[in-house]
Formats: sequence, C-alpha cells, structure tokens
Amino acid sequence: MVLWIGLDDTDSLRGMCTTFLATELVRELSTDLDLIGYPRIVRLNPNVPWKTRGNGALCVRFGRGRGESTPIGEIAGRSILSFPRSTGNDDPRSVVGRIERLVERWACFGDPTTNPAFVVFRRPPTARLYWRAVRRIISKEEALDAGRGLGLVREYKEGRGVIGATAATAWHPHDRTYEILAYRHPIAWGTPREVDPESVRRMDRAFPSTFNNYDHENARIVIAPRSPCPVLLGIRGDHVKDLVGAFRTVRSEPADRWLIFETNQGTDDHVISALPIEPSTTVDFRGDVTRGPRTITGGHLIFSVDGYEVTAYEPSKQFREKVGSLVPEDRVRVIGSVRDSPRTVNLEKVQVLHLAEVTRKIANPTCPQCGKRMKSMGRAAPYRCARCGVRRPRSAEARESVPRRLSLGWYEPPVGSRRHLSKPLQRMTGSVPSEKTSLEPARFRVPESEISLRSIGRLSRS
Ligand SMILES: [Zn+2]
Repeated sequence: MVLWIGLDDTDSLRGMCTTFLATELVRELSTDLDLIGYPRIVRLNPNVPWKTRGNGALCVRFGRGRGESTPIGEIAGRSILSFPRSTGNDDPRSVVGRIERLVERWACFGDPTTNPAFVVFRRPPTARLYWRAVRRIISKEEALDAGRGLGLVREYKEGRGVIGATAATAWHPHDRTYEILAYRHPIAWGTPREVDPESVRRMDRAFPSTFNNYDHENARIVIAPRSPCPVLLGIRGDHVKDLVGAFRTVRSEPADRWLIFETNQGTDDHVISALPIEPSTTVDFRGDVTRGPRTITGGHLIFSVDGYEVTAYEPSKQFREKVGSLVPEDRVRVIGSVRDSPRTVNLEKVQVLHLAEVTRKIANPTCPQCGKRMKSMGRAAPYRCARCGVRRPRSAEARESVPRRLSLGWYEPPVGSRRHLSKPLQRMTGSVPSEKTSLEPARFRVPESEISLRSIGRLSRS
C-alpha cells in the first residue's frame, strides 16, 4: 500500500515554493519510508482567479519499496532513491504529525492569499477530480467529497489548498513530462541567481528532449525563476534519463539539493475541445478568421474567429507578428484561455489550416470591342469604355496573387511567454525546433542586468 500525500497553496508570490516544501517532505519521510515513483508537480487550471504563480500542487507517495530503486535526487548530501512498487500497510496517521511540522515551518501563513492544506490518502481519488480541477473551477466541497473515506485532510486558514492537494493525488498520467529542480543554498535566497546563460544555450542544443530552456528570440534563459523563491533552476524534458546530464552541463552557483519530478507540464491537459466557450477554461476550436488583426493599446493584437474575439498579448512579440498577417477567410485552429470580461480568448497557440488567396489589382479590364483600357467609375461601380460606352463588372479587372508571409502549420509564443501546461510544438509534432538544430553560430546579446555572474562554479555534487 502507498500513502498518497497531496500538498498545495503553501507558497506566496514573495518567496517560498511548494516544491521546496516537497523536498523537505522527501528528506524527512525518506529516513524511514521509501519514496514510490517520482514526486509529482501537478499544474491545475491556470485560469483560476486566486492562483499564485503557476497553480501547481504536489503529490508525493511513500511506502515500503519493492523492485529496483533508482536515484532521482540528492538532498542534504544523501542520494534519494525511488522504488517502482510498494508493499506495507502504513497508516496515514503515522506521518501526519511530521507533515504538519514541515508545513507549519515552511508555508507562508503571513500571506493573506496563502491557504495551505495537505491530504494523506490510502489510495487516490478517481481521475475525474483531476480532470475537473485542471480544466474547470471546482469548489472545496467537491474536492472534500472526492477524498471522503480515503484518509486524512488537514487544512489551514481558509484551506483552499484542499482543492489542489486532493486533485494532485487524483492525477493518473496519460501524458507526462519530467522536471529536474535544483535549489539554492539558504544563504543565497533572495539574492540574484548565478546561472551562465551561454551554458544554458549549449545545454538546450545538446539535449533536444528538453524544452522551454532558453528563449532564443528574446535572448534570455527561462530555466531560472525571477522570483525570490529557493529554486535555482528547473529543466523540463520528455526523457528522465537526459535531465541529470542536462543539469550537469549548466554552469551556475552550487546547488543545495536537486530532485526529479514527474509533471503534467507541457501536456495540454487543461485544454477543452468542446464548445460553447466558457469563461475560465482553455479552449481548442477551429474557425474562419472573420475580422482581420488590429493592434490595440499596449501592443496587443485582436482578431475574430467565427465571431469570437481572440487576443495575442504583447509579450509574445514574434508570435504576434505571425498572427498579425492573418486575413479574413483564413482558416485557423485556436487554443487559448477564455477571459470573461472583456470576453476574449487569450491565444496560447494557433494552427493555420488554410490560407485565403490575397490578390491585388494590376490593371483595369480592356474593352471587348475596341481593345482599349476601360475607365473606373468609382469603387463599387462597373468599368466603362470611354470610346464605346461598353460596361464590364469589377471582377473583370486583371489581378495577381500576393504572396502570404505566413505558411500552414502551428505557431506558438516564444519560450518565455508559454504557460506551464501548454504543450510545446516540439512535443506536438515530435520535431526538434529549428532554434535547437541551427548550425549558425549564435550571436545573441545577453542582457547583462538579468543575471549576475559574480563567481560561477561547477555545481558541487558528491
Ligand atoms: Zn471600347
């Protein structure tokens, strides 16, 4: 039997991070229990109004390990082993006090928006709860109902974390990715991170199964957060076997600990393909461009698809340029989150399915009787021959096709503007993006202000 521990809403925008608390939990419980499988970061509906950074909850499983163990991290100089299976019959009550002490020590109780909770279940709730929580807005009562009879629930303050904690244990992966997370020494918390951008670029090219590492378009690293939290960096990828190697090639300040998580990041699990469009969901629909793109205040771009308004936001610059060349009658597939007021779909990705033909007039028609060029008699009126008086419709004019600056296929925002749950095109098409295969020597300007490079050393690891 496995103890399914779910944890959520312990962090705040000003620091801490639920994944760090998970490493503390692993450190504490792995002294006498065995970690089963990978610890999990389970991202939930990114459109919930009360989310902290990425609306990510945690699930960690413990039991009595069976089968061959694998090292999946290092905490306090100790290798962390994971087992594929478990036996044993541990009681949730046997660990609840230890989890309480850790939550009470590390959660940000002072932050009014932080409402921590954890659960310890003997078995997971049905997957339905996960699917509801990743795609819809669910109530605390719904989460409590799903967990009823499965074990213990402990909540603090308003206890809204119960939703994420329970939903995280309900994730039965059908698609998954992995993330290796490295943490900073406590002495460095809150100071600028030392991560060498050049080494991140090299790592990004050397390990094609990793994704969202480096924003080549905007020349900035994406693996290191910009908040004061304890995370040094996180590398995401499809193949767990590549992550430690990728991590070792990044030059940075020394890491205090690291751990590999299994996640639903980059899976598009949050996307609903059914209409009608409802607020606070992320939708996937096809339609014709009914109104061409126009730029509004702030540099955002708005266009309409089958009458639904779609917005591409300013931070995704090159993406916006591509979207900006759509014209009416193009056919597209849109994936985006629905904002209620004003009602619009915030574009996460777009696939161009059909390009309308765009033409321009090159000459007036010729007269069928005398062969002379006919005269225009106004924008909507037919053409007329000045000599014979013959009329011909506007459609008789000579036109030529204008080349489109857009091709069929998918377009996505640059790495730094993507959502955690958004499936990168690299994962959708199975192709390695050109930015990773380019043989052109890179000449990106790296903003000096972004990351300090006081003393870069190899990660120290035993
Ligand atoms: Zn004529």
